Amino acid sequence: MNRFTWQRAVIKVGSALIAPEGNECSGRYLLSLARFITASREAGKEVILVSSGSVAAGRSKVKVRHNASIAEKQAMAAIGQNLMMANWQRFFDFPCAQVLLTADDLRDRTRYVNIKNTLREILKHNALPIVNENDTVAANELKVGDNDNLGAYTALVAQADTLIICSDIDGLFTADPRKDNTATLIPHVGKIDSTIYGLAGGAGTAVGTGGMRTKIEAADKCTSSGIQTLIVNGRKGETFDALLEGEVPGTLFEASSTPANARRLWLTHTLKTAGRIEVDSGAKEALMQKGASLLPSGIIDVVGQFEQGDAVEVICQGAVVAKGLCLYNAKDLGLIKGKKSKDIASVLGYETTDVAVHRDDMVLY
Ligand code: GLU
Repeated sequence: MNRFTWQRAVIKVGSALIAPEGNECSGRYLLSLARFITASREAGKEVILVSSGSVAAGRSKVKVRHNASIAEKQAMAAIGQNLMMANWQRFFDFPCAQVLLTADDLRDRTRYVNIKNTLREILKHNALPIVNENDTVAANELKVGDNDNLGAYTALVAQADTLIICSDIDGLFTADPRKDNTATLIPHVGKIDSTIYGLAGGAGTAVGTGGMRTKIEAADKCTSSGIQTLIVNGRKGETFDALLEGEVPGTLFEASSTPANARRLWLTHTLKTAGRIEVDSGAKEALMQKGASLLPSGIIDVVGQFEQGDAVEVICQGAVVAKGLCLYNAKDLGLIKGKKSKDIASVLGYETTDVAVHRDDMVLY
């Protein structure tokens, strides 16, 4: 078996585990997974869940036609979402935190930054974020559409190092194991290319090879950003024993580099610099020597017209010392430069964070 190490994982749990009968949330397959989550957290690791099941849970409470309309499904999601959350909460002593996202939230820069901050904050308070698509408000092009891809976006925004997709199939196979008994499991994928997509079935197939198409898409998004991706069978209790031992009892899609390297490349080369922040030598020292985030108190000057979430260069005495994503726009940062954290709210009339550029969103030069 392949081995893996991880520190922050997004675990995507599909309907096959949450709602095995197609309606109603069930705990049947969740106990081993819940134990894995608890044990991992006790070992100092961080977990974010992406869970399906709201529509299935809603369906169990009200009668709808077999072919429910979009509006009916949205209503089912609204009725079922809290049941799905409650289904998870009963497994844990720590709080579960509901996070509902749409594709539009992930595309909008301000909301993206807010999602990132909120996930950080939830983890800091030792709660378990449980992410689902906000099906009630999103339809068609506003939707990510499936929770495999939502899992990938969540891993990216949360800067996870690992995405674990729990399904009812052991991993990626050479053919569909439900139709072809010569099919064998592929334990390791070094690079996702057209052959791998070919194994997953065409885009148009509803289920592909065990719903594999969206899983490969998710793995593709993640691995190219340095996030290793696993597909495992979450219906088998032994899967989670193996994962706890650092073994991959399914398919491991190798990351193309480390998340830190991928992020460094993205921040350094892909992102256009939208402005500059001049800092004092104390702030520079805190960034370079202490691994600190940049606070408004160390900022002397703000140059350029940037928006929240844009990339800025951090300058000290004429030299570029870092580049990162700014959590305030240029106008507001100009107002709070040099100010202590406790004064931000009174100057701006609001406060989202006392950090101007977070450590996790910064590369040092
Ligand atoms: N968001 C959907 C639900 O909660 C599930 C979508 C999916 O599993 O891909 O029912």
